[in-house]
Amino acid sequence: MEPAVFLDRDNTLIVNDGDLGDPRAVQLIDGVAAGLAKLREAGFRLVVVTNQGGVARGKYDESQVDAVHQEIAAAVDRDAGREGLIDRFYYCPYHPEATVEQYRRDHPWRKPRPGMILQAASDMRLDLGRSWVIGDQVRDIQAGRAAGCRTVLVHAGNDAVSEAQPSAAVATFTEAVELILREDTTRDLQSDRVSSSPNADIKPDLGQLKAAIVELGDELRMERARRAAFTPLKLTAVVLQLVAVLLVLLGLMQLGQTETFMKWMISAVFVQLVTIAVVQADART
Ligand SMILES: [Mg+2]
Repeated sequence: MEPAVFLDRDNTLIVNDGDLGDPRAVQLIDGVAAGLAKLREAGFRLVVVTNQGGVARGKYDESQVDAVHQEIAAAVDRDAGREGLIDRFYYCPYHPEATVEQYRRDHPWRKPRPGMILQAASDMRLDLGRSWVIGDQVRDIQAGRAAGCRTVLVHAGNDAVSEAQPSAAVATFTEAVELILREDTTRDLQSDRVSSSPNADIKPDLGQLKAAIVELGDELRMERARRAAFTPLKLTAVVLQLVAVLLVLLGLMQLGQTETFMKWMISAVFVQLVTIAVVQADART
């Protein structure tokens, strides 16, 4: 299991005070590319976790979010002179007050909830107790704390610092990176001397963490249910069922002629059997 640094996107990695859907407008904050390269060299995986409520408000769509992320990844690699520095991007397009209906709901991925961090930890086998979060908003820090990570708040005011209670607050991204590397080295030296648990100084709220994991599980089940609600096989079954009923009706109109009636009925039974087979096939997928 590897440690990671979870990175907020807007005003942590890139300059963005509004809704950004245009990859050409991507502008990295000073020191970001060099800082990410140092974190990677120190053995941290790099994962971006970002709320993208602009999708829910119809300002831009998910394909534009993807385009912006590809540009951020490319810009970081260009500036750092390396390939694939950022491992993954996770974003939450949902918002409880979305104007676009399909995105209007509360979602466990939405910060301050820790859903994206927990999902990444599960997908990438990450060690949250040795991981960090860097962000510029109180909710970034709250999400990190809820997941049991150490946290660094960047260029935030005193009010935000006292509300968020981060492990550290610094002025720039570069300082955040230096702090993480310093703490990481100190930790290694300490654990050589005493075999303390790596996250002994961070106590995640276990109740909150459990609730977040349950929420993620619920979300997964709902997602499966949504997918199951409408499948091509189900549609086929509905059409076949209608055909079977139609065949029975046509047969009843020929009641007087036994042979013709039987032909319609046998056809109806055959179509009904196919319908049942399709329904069973759908249940198995
Ligand atoms: Mg931000």
